[in-house]
Formats: sequence, structure tokens, C-alpha cells
Amino acid sequence: MAKKLARREFMGAAAAGALLSSASLGQQSNDSGPAARQVRLEFLRPREIEEAQAECATIFQPLGTIEWHGVHNVVGVDAVKAHALCMRAAQKAGGLVAPALYGGVGGLDQPHTFVMEPENSVFSNFLRPWLEQLCREMARQGFRAIIILTGHYGAAQQIVVRETAVRMSRTLGIPVLGTPEYMLAIDVNYTGDHAAWGETSLMMHLYPDTVDLSRLGEPPHKGVGGRDPRESSAEDGRLITETIVARLATLARNMPAWDEKTLGRFIDAEAALVARQLSAPKGKGSLWSAWRNIAGAMRDYGKHLAEENFEQIKASVANL
Ligand SMILES: [Zn+2]
Repeated sequence: MAKKLARREFMGAAAAGALLSSASLGQQSNDSGPAARQVRLEFLRPREIEEAQAECATIFQPLGTIEWHGVHNVVGVDAVKAHALCMRAAQKAGGLVAPALYGGVGGLDQPHTFVMEPENSVFSNFLRPWLEQLCREMARQGFRAIIILTGHYGAAQQIVVRETAVRMSRTLGIPVLGTPEYMLAIDVNYTGDHAAWGETSLMMHLYPDTVDLSRLGEPPHKGVGGRDPRESSAEDGRLITETIVARLATLARNMPAWDEKTLGRFIDAEAALVARQLSAPKGKGSLWSAWRNIAGAMRDYGKHLAEENFEQIKASVANL
């Protein structure tokens, strides 16, 4: 357990924050606007789906799991935050959001955690084929771009998600992006963590009623990896949210119209990234080997991706 957390420590991020706490559960902060369009696929009738697809044929697939996120967070953090970010992007840009998938690769050895596949299972038996079939069905049902956003991100989970996305982009001939949400906000100092400052700040902004910082004692905090969550704030969560949502919205709007050449450049960069992440350990080192320089090397990944500067992404990968 301690080892597992140590591997995640690199992900600790930097910024300032304040304390806040609240009690009851379930209410989303409503700054997405009072008349926000319904973007949840499972709540739509056929006509609304067809209208939404005609306007923007992108579908978001949020991923997460049930996992201990400290005594101060709910166990669904990963899927809940990914789903909320996708919903905001879809409301802004168009597109629809599929129901979040709970369950993936790995999870902490802590209470209230569902571990569906071992932490380092890059040869995923469950998640990979499930994602493949989801992508096939999404394409068959008329979507022209797919954004898989994982809020759960052990190294193997990230590799499986991105590798599947690259392969399905090639197979289906439509862009499929598979990325953890933090990769879109490294330039605002969110490098991904576990129930620490970053994830907790996001939840304080997205679902303020779910976080109770008053339950935290002195560090070390059990099952938390990264900067002290007592420094989390809704304000920091807002900055991270806005950064991620803006990039997702740009991608959702543009991806369905990418021509073959653009798609090829995108695939090339994403394939280089996943190849680097997969091969860096060379069968013996930590699966996290290609993440050591991620804060520096991939700082502008989100910006480059949204601006379609794929060659720059490819160049950055060489520094991982
Ligand atoms: Zn998490």
C-alpha cells in the first residue's frame, strides 16, 4: 500500500488553497447555467439524440471506479468528476455524455474499493475489450468523434485507455481520444494526485457537498497521495475545471470535422505517447517510469491538443 502511494506521489501538484467543508451529499454546483441543455445520453429520447448528433456528433465516455479517496471524499470521485467535466464540456460545445463506467484497472488496497483488475495490468482483460466494443457501438450509432475521459489513473489504466483509443481511431477511422483529465491541466499545476489537493479541489468546485475537510487529521492521511488535501479549495478546483472544460469543448466541437490528414497526425502523436509510456519500464522498471518528467515534458499537452499542434506533442514525448 505504502509503495503504491509512493508511486503516485510524483503526481503531487502545486498551488495555494483555503479550508472549506460541508456535510450533505449530492448537489452539483450549478454554474453551468439554469437552462443547461440535457446532455446525458440515458435521459434522452430518439429525437433529442438525433438533434444533438446533427449539431455535434461527439460523444464523451467518462471512466472511474469505486475507490477509497481519503476520509474526506466520496468513493466515486474518479467517475463523478470525469462525468461532471464531460457534462460541462458538452453543454458548452455540443455532444452527448454516455453514462460513467465504474470499474477499471487497479485501485488502492483500502476499504470500500472495488479492484476489477490488478494495478499494473497493462494486458487488461475487462476494461480494454469493454472500451473497444463501446467505441464500435458509438461509431455504429452515428457518432463521429469519441472522447474517453478517465478520472481514475493508475499507470496501467492510463496506458490501456490511451492505447485502446489510438487503436480504435485507426480501426474506425474517427478520432478517439483516451486521456486522464489531469493531462489537460498540467499547465495550471494539476499533475494528477490521489484524493490530495487536486482531486479534492475539483470535487469542492464540482460537488461541494461531497467534501468534508474537517474529517482530516494530521498527515500522513491514509490512502492519499500528493499535496496535503487540507490546502484544497473550491477556487483552485474552478481553475482546473475551467482549463479542462475549455479544452474538451474545443476538441468536441472540432474533432468530428477532422480530415484524414489531421486524424493521421493526431494518431501519430497519441501513439508515440502511449508507446513511450508502455515501453519505458522495459519489462523491469516501474510502470510509472515515463511519468517522472510529465510535469515538465507534457506541461502544454492540453494546449497543444486543443490547438491541434500534434507535432509538438510528439516532440514532447521524447523528453518523458
Ligand atoms: Zn481519484
